[in-house]
Amino acid sequence: METAEIPKIKPRRIKPKIVRNERKGVQTWRFWIQTGFVALCFWIGVEFYLFLQYLDSGGATALVNRPPGVEGFLPISSLMSWFYFALTGTIHSAHPAGFFIFLAIVAISLLFGKTFCSWLCPIGFLSEMIAEVGEKVLGRRLKMPRWLDYPLRSLKYLLLAFFAVSIFTMSLAALKAFLDSEYNIVADIKMYHWFANLSGVGLGVIAFLLVASFFYRGFWCRYLCPYGALLGVTSLLSPNKIKRNPVSCIDCGLCAKACPSNIKVDKVQTVLSDECHTCMSCVDACPVADTLDLTLVGTKKRWQPRWVAIGIVVLFMSITGAAMVSGYWQNQVTMEQYQQLNKNLERFGHPGM
Ligand code: SF4
Ligand code: SF4
Repeated sequence: METAEIPKIKPRRIKPKIVRNERKGVQTWRFWIQTGFVALCFWIGVEFYLFLQYLDSGGATALVNRPPGVEGFLPISSLMSWFYFALTGTIHSAHPAGFFIFLAIVAISLLFGKTFCSWLCPIGFLSEMIAEVGEKVLGRRLKMPRWLDYPLRSLKYLLLAFFAVSIFTMSLAALKAFLDSEYNIVADIKMYHWFANLSGVGLGVIAFLLVASFFYRGFWCRYLCPYGALLGVTSLLSPNKIKRNPVSCIDCGLCAKACPSNIKVDKVQTVLSDECHTCMSCVDACPVADTLDLTLVGTKKRWQPRWVAIGIVVLFMSITGAAMVSGYWQNQVTMEQYQQLNKNLERFGHPGM
């Protein structure tokens, strides 16, 4: 008896469309934006140093005004200013630039995810450079064992919780007293002296973090930075997420291999992780067009990586620039007041002095 031959159905292959050249290279944009931000921080550091020289010399050196951008290094005072603003509707006058820098960083994070860490933060950049060297020397990327990775990652949230509880349980009177205090006004000067006169313990901690970053990419950022923890939380609210198209994906795994946060990008459709800092390394690594992109959730709107780069810079400059032109950038502390405060720094319990 003849049997009807069942026609063989060939599995339909989707021909991968190789990524157009102009989509590549966002890591170069990222590198130059990071470098520019490091240069800006360096410039602020030099100005602040010259300002302190002027104060310490009693006005004998050339007059250099205090750069307000230094307040970007006072995140706790900035968070307190934000709480004060939430309670009173007033921007506290001690460190207004810190208030706006904090706003810019959180706004960028709400729009594009935890981008500050991988596009702007100088510590993130330094940590990344050390990891690059480490991986070249070791010939591979070391991963923390899972049983240790999870508890270590929670440390930064514990630190954030500690600061949040300490600040958000303060009464308005206590908050105002702290923000008005001379201690808060000279917090930037004290921070400078702390780093300039590092104790053995401080040096040991910094050396440990540098060595740990050599072996484990982003050790400080992933495990200890409370600022990163805060941005990790706000980034979850961002409407833009890294999304993978499972139909055109060829399962090459290059995205997961490229991810510095060890996220299994090739196994999910949408990256929903507080550790994703929108570095776009996975997007850059993906060889198939329109398969892995930063996408507006609920739509097909994909962000071209260069627009993410431009958006981060424009948003940061718009918010800080608006503060400058509206007269909110500078605090109202006069040079004479700074000279007086600087003479009596030891009164404020500065460590190492
Ligand atoms: S998932 Fe992609 S964008 Fe997010 S951290 Fe990993 S490589 Fe960067
Ligand atoms: S890089 Fe990732 S998303 Fe792109 S094809 Fe390979 S596995 Fe799929």
